[in-house]
Amino acid sequence: MQPIQNVTVIGTGVLGSQIAYQAAFHGFAVTAYDVSDDALEHARTRIAQLAPVYVSDKVAGATAESTEAAANGIRYSSDMAEAVADADLVIEAAPESIDIKRNLYQQLAEAAPQKTIFATNSSTLLPSDIKEFTGRADRFLALHYANQVWRQNTAEIMGTIDTDPDVYRSVVDFAERSGLVPIELKKEKAGYVLNSLLVPLLNAAAGLVLQGIADPETVDKTWRIGTGAPVGPFQIYDVVGLTTAYNIASANPEPGSQAWAAYLKTNFIDQGKLGVATGEGFYRYS
Ligand code: NAD
Repeated sequence: MQPIQNVTVIGTGVLGSQIAYQAAFHGFAVTAYDVSDDALEHARTRIAQLAPVYVSDKVAGATAESTEAAANGIRYSSDMAEAVADADLVIEAAPESIDIKRNLYQQLAEAAPQKTIFATNSSTLLPSDIKEFTGRADRFLALHYANQVWRQNTAEIMGTIDTDPDVYRSVVDFAERSGLVPIELKKEKAGYVLNSLLVPLLNAAAGLVLQGIADPETVDKTWRIGTGAPVGPFQIYDVVGLTTAYNIASANPEPGSQAWAAYLKTNFIDQGKLGVATGEGFYRYS
């Protein structure tokens, strides 16, 4: 199989713009597709803002020149047929809605050439939920990036029972060549590896605080000293953002989750303390 070179990113929001830029920075020919020229204007702004971040975060090889050249090399299109015409790999980062993704893959199945591999970046849908709409289940899998891809550079790769092993290897190779650490899953799993570990930890930490057993600082200190980890669960909450934590907890009808949502709302959300992004959450940041 020919190595992947031409990459089209579908959906250029928070993750899609990072995915497009990361691939462009590592030398791939990247096309960014979104539904409107307005959405693409936002993507241009997001991508222009990433260039100096790669320099300040000391990403290997990032200079003012190389980061600007990567941003300028991205092609933008709101015409799907044109955007995917020569794509080796399409990475889909459209909104997390099965209805949107169904329509989108049905269009992509028509528009993309036979050679094109499709990868979804979905966090909560399994590739099995989507594969029937792709018209090419053997060339479809999940390639899951983490927010802040240049720093949190895992790429969780998860196929279905129908994914061709050569396609899987080709996407692992693409991940390596685009500055990511491939995390190879042998089977489908909701939450992949990272969230399968992280979500129970964060929930257990919330339970300790809600039940009045220990305060957040004590929980974090215990985790750091006891495991050697650099940060504890409440420091992680602050990085993830307390709005995201609140949205996830409030959507879960289970009483413990509802209590955690209420706690976050009263103590943080209502006071504008949303985590690192606003300078204060469980901790203060300068
Ligand atoms: P987002 O809302 O920031 O961006 C979605 C983009 O898709 C927007 O630019 C929107 O204009 C575009 N879009 C809307 N309808 C579309 C369509 N029919 N076809 C193509 N594009 C369309 O969302 P996001 O946070 O970037 O999430 C995108 C995907 O990435 C989701 O599947 C999500 O689960 C996954 N993900 C998100 C994160 C995260 O931290 N935000 C992390 C990992 C994975």
